[in-house]
Amino acid sequence: MLVTGGGGFVGSHLVDGFLARGCEVVAVDNNVTGTTDNIAHLANEPRFSFVSADVSLGNLSEALPVQGKFDVIAHFASPASPADFGRIPVEILRVNSQGTQNCLDLARQHGARFLFASTSEVYGDPQVHPQPETYWGNVSSIGPRSVYDEAKRYGEAITMAYRRTYGVDVRIVRIFNTYGPRMRIDDGRAIPNFVSQALADESITLYGDGTQTRSICYVSDLVAGILLLLDSDQTGPMNCGTEHEMTMVELAELIKDIIGSKSEFTFLPMPEDDPLVRRPDLTRITTELGYQPQVSPKEGLRRTIEDLAAQIGVPLKA
Ligand code: NAD
Ligand code: UDP
Repeated sequence: MLVTGGGGFVGSHLVDGFLARGCEVVAVDNNVTGTTDNIAHLANEPRFSFVSADVSLGNLSEALPVQGKFDVIAHFASPASPADFGRIPVEILRVNSQGTQNCLDLARQHGARFLFASTSEVYGDPQVHPQPETYWGNVSSIGPRSVYDEAKRYGEAITMAYRRTYGVDVRIVRIFNTYGPRMRIDDGRAIPNFVSQALADESITLYGDGTQTRSICYVSDLVAGILLLLDSDQTGPMNCGTEHEMTMVELAELIKDIIGSKSEFTFLPMPEDDPLVRRPDLTRITTELGYQPQVSPKEGLRRTIEDLAAQIGVPLKA
């Protein structure tokens, strides 16, 4: 198995998922947003190796000192926080375009199954709610989020083109807001921001009026869905997430309650093109693959808060 972005939040959990099944796993990452801390627990794992490389550059098979063939190439390399869209926009476009093509070429050489980590952002600011896979989306091609949204749409397009043109065995998963241990406390996404602010009893920053919604998915549920998709004969695209839709105010209140925080709310301007609602229609993945997410927001957030607090060395209140 090859996991690109294997040093990142989701990628490192997928690595763990493959290892738990007895697979040999290579992770490739350039640490632009990931960290080797996420795979430090695998230092003595003989079935795991890590390669430091940029998947957007050159010939991937030259960068990878691998004997034998990969069965699966899972392409998870890509910054994913909206805070990165303005910071490293060209890198995001490249890793989802040229990077995806490089991974598809490798999959073709190896006869490997290829999985593309797509996103609910392909639906943009949706005019259909909840979002089924058949919805084509409402995405600006020029706005600040376009570097991610359009790059992922291109990634899906080239994945399908390699299937049609070269017969590569592909899978596309559209991931909805996923959270859990190993998120970066300072990555700018809502959950790490709210947790770090609540732990310090500082103001929680809500963008807009905080009534925009997201449906949050604990990372072990996402990994379970991805493994079901890989084991199946379905190409997708397949939504994966949960139906735990909540406003950002509700999310912040829940985090405050779990932590026992005294934080108040500060309302800041809404970022441009920020989707107002988001919830997956999970009919396809539940009926085709028997997917059933297990972890409640309360339990998942408790585990995530413990991890984020440990990252910054803050003790939790009893
Ligand atoms: P992350 O930033 O923690 O992980 C991405 C990893 O990719 C990092 O380790 C980063 O260093 C690596 N990377 C980026 N560009 C690279 C390059 N050119 N070469 C090699 N490595 C590179 O983010 P994440 O949340 O774990 O997201 C992982 C994947 O899942 C991404 O493709 C993202 O678009 C997708 N996704 C995540 C979510 C979510 O809620 N977390 C939602 C939708 C889609
Ligand atoms: N958000 C917020 N305060 C923050 C960070 C994010 O209110 O400090 C909002 C953001 O505007 C968005 C939602 O929370 O509406 C989810 O943001 P996140 O960056 O986690 O994910 P995405 O926008 O990619 O779904």
